[in-house]
Amino acid sequence: MKKVQTVSKAKRKAWVWFSLYIRTRRADGEFNTCVTCKRVYPIKSLQAGHWLPGRHNSVLFDPRNCHPQCYGCNVPNKGNPVKYFHFMEETFGKEIMDELEELDKQTVQFKVVDLEELEQFFKTKYKELIKEDNNIRNFNKRGER
Ligand SMILES: [Zn+2]
Repeated sequence: MKKVQTVSKAKRKAWVWFSLYIRTRRADGEFNTCVTCKRVYPIKSLQAGHWLPGRHNSVLFDPRNCHPQCYGCNVPNKGNPVKYFHFMEETFGKEIMDELEELDKQTVQFKVVDLEELEQFFKTKYKELIKEDNNIRNFNKRGER
């Protein structure tokens, strides 16, 4: 019988794949660029940092709202918001930013099944990424994820 999952456990599991997908997207081999300080870091030392703080479920797993960031920008610099704003403006433009801000105001309650779907969705997206990019695949083969 399948074990019953709690929402918080399911959320953590979904986050693992979401974060891996976010940090690997647009990577160059095992490296990716922090979107706010533009420095290059190994994927494994990058974090998935939110533009609008991911405290609201409605924007927590939105890939437009979350991008690779170094620890320095994400944690001590609290997301480096001015630079993040410019990155969002250049990458998505004001319309999408407004849309995300509207979404951020909405209340979303996750059920375990929603989070399991998100987990599967981003697991698939991640696997597609590493299938497309031979460099990433090789680096995964070395088990350095
Ligand atoms: Zn940075």
